[in-house]
Amino acid sequence: MAFNNFLIKNGKLWTGTEFTTGNILIQKDTIVSLDAPDDVKGYVYDAEGCIVSTGLLDIHTHIYKVSWDMYGYPAELVSAPFGVTAAVDGGAEQSDRAYLDTMMIKTRVFASVRIDENGVDFTLTEKMLQAYGDRAIGVKVYFDQSGNQFVNLAHLQEICSYAKARGLKVMVHCNHSPSSMWDIVNTLNKGDILTHIYHGDINTIEADDYAAYKLAKEKGVILDSGNAGHVHTDFAVMPRAFAAGYFPDTISSDITCFSAFNRGGRYGLTMCMSMARTAGMKEEDILRAVTSDAAKAVGMENECGTLAVGRKADIAVLSYGKEPYCLKDPAGNILRDENGYICHLTVSNGQILYRR
Ligand SMILES: [Zn+2]
Repeated sequence: MAFNNFLIKNGKLWTGTEFTTGNILIQKDTIVSLDAPDDVKGYVYDAEGCIVSTGLLDIHTHIYKVSWDMYGYPAELVSAPFGVTAAVDGGAEQSDRAYLDTMMIKTRVFASVRIDENGVDFTLTEKMLQAYGDRAIGVKVYFDQSGNQFVNLAHLQEICSYAKARGLKVMVHCNHSPSSMWDIVNTLNKGDILTHIYHGDINTIEADDYAAYKLAKEKGVILDSGNAGHVHTDFAVMPRAFAAGYFPDTISSDITCFSAFNRGGRYGLTMCMSMARTAGMKEEDILRAVTSDAAKAVGMENECGTLAVGRKADIAVLSYGKEPYCLKDPAGNILRDENGYICHLTVSNGQILYRR
């Protein structure tokens, strides 16, 4: 149910690009004021001490009935507990567009592309692109030789040409890839997305060699954290890259039923933001990476990433405080902190999806 008058007051507003102050007034599904008086009659939420952000966007998730069943996690659980009001599926293999349209959050998908001994097979990709229509923004390739001994750089080149010719983005999973990160970035086109950039597997970024990240910045290739909690982020690589000034353009969770359940339901975008903060990223940069910059990266600027009058009321109320976590990567490195981001309220289209 949406409210006729819904006031979120006393918070520190994050507009997508900067902090400001003010009370947000929502009528039905729309933001009608960012400077409303305190005494508006209606439903009032006091966000004293909290950040009131435009709803967060997680650009790499795996949604139930969109991704493969082994990975898919219900859209409401991907989003609501973590302030997420828009999510992108990173590998559509099931084509139930009608189901996607029932979701409370805003969505996009990357269509999976398969590579086998005969080369790149776009059959599934074509099927997904057709099924999802304007919701499909690109293709997703698992450029990973641990799960597929056939992948090589020529396949990636073919996929990039295919995507470019159709105005689609390419999202590349680069763990255990057969090529260096530099070769992958060199193959990608402007606007394509490299995910799991701080992985610690074969062909990771070696210490003091950030040429791949530098090239990505020059070319306009998006560097996405794709944290994945316990598998695709190395807790030695990430802080080292941060110390050298190489932060992600976008922070995403790569949430699946594995990462979510393995962390007892705590793993999601807010934990990824906590990880970034612990490793040395500034708050404004973290927030940009899950709002305005994330929206730009996936072409959703008109729908999300900005807190403004006239926009749909997608809001995340967050705080940074006592929220201990301790994560271990596959190499045994540990990232821990006493503090982290906490989501207090998630509002999508003026409706409360979650309240702590
Ligand atoms: Zn993924």
